[in-house]
Amino acid sequence: VDPELTGVVQKKLQAHGVRIELQAKVQSLEVVDGKAKVRFQTSDGQMLTETFSKVLVTIGRTPNSHGLGLERAGVKLDSKGFVVVDERRATNVSGIYAIGDLAGQPLLAHKGSKEGIVAAEAIAGKKTIYDVHAMPAVIFTDPEIATVGLTEAEARAKGLQVMIGKFPFGANGRALSVGEPDGFVKIVGDQTTGKLLGVHIVGVEASNLIAEAALAIEMGAQVEDLALTVHAHPTLPETVMEAAEATLGHAIHIFQKKQPTSTKSATLSSPAR
Ligand SMILES: Cc1cc2nc3c(=O)[nH]c(=O)nc-3n(C[C@H](O)[C@H](O)[C@H](O)COP(=O)(O)OP(=O)(O)OC[C@H]3O[C@@H](n4cnc5c(N)ncnc54)[C@H](O)[C@@H]3O)c2cc1C
Repeated sequence: VDPELTGVVQKKLQAHGVRIELQAKVQSLEVVDGKAKVRFQTSDGQMLTETFSKVLVTIGRTPNSHGLGLERAGVKLDSKGFVVVDERRATNVSGIYAIGDLAGQPLLAHKGSKEGIVAAEAIAGKKTIYDVHAMPAVIFTDPEIATVGLTEAEARAKGLQVMIGKFPFGANGRALSVGEPDGFVKIVGDQTTGKLLGVHIVGVEASNLIAEAALAIEMGAQVEDLALTVHAHPTLPETVMEAAEATLGHAIHIFQKKQPTSTKSATLSSPAR
């Protein structure tokens, strides 16, 4: 996730008194009087021993593909143990399909559901493929993080000329009235084509706000399409519209020093699409 987003969650946790040690390495853990005594090395090399009431280990997931007899059936697995599937979610063995976590990244419930529909259609003999452009992902922190499409770093790594726009929840009437001013919507667009590449949200109801962005990317929308779409007031989705406007240099509820970054922005006042 874009570190700008996690930074907002980090700040809120710290405001609640949470201490965060990133890049720390646990060396040992023993249970003493029902508590966990943990020896760990901090990022600056310090060795510390501290006692915690609970330890939650969240260091990755592996596919549970062994012991099912898949090898005996001749079903091909990749080096990590995920089942190899084609665009219809068929394996290399006729009549055997795989969906969900077993079929590889991203390990998300809605990705598995979508694949289930595709596989069922394929089994029923329908013409179908898994052809998803926009896969939203949500992290249910406080505030929530939700993303879809390319991050700024991913877009730059692809050699694309990006345009970025951000709109803070602190400038949105609804967010203020529900007492949730933390966070922002960040938009990543393609400077050359005006195409919407990614939407990244940290803030109240980010999990619900991301649906509009997923639809826009799936439909191949321009950043301008989000900006030109009238959003009801006072609502949280106005942040998505205003982030798109900010990307084009036209956001009304924040001060923007920079001139519009997009050549497309000139059409905003006369939308001849
Ligand atoms: C802590 C946690 C939080 C998560 N939060 C989210 C989230 O917020 N949003 C999201 O989209 N995703 C989330 N995920 C991921 C999501 O849970 C998975 O992507 C999703 O459940 C995958 O669905 P699946 O059907 O592929 O596998 P599963 O849901 O794991 O289902 C596999 C089923 O197969 C059964 N099974 C296993 N072996 C056998 C066997 N030999 N015979 C018969 N049955 C067997 C298992 O008991 C299980 O019921 C989370 C995962 C974890 C671990």
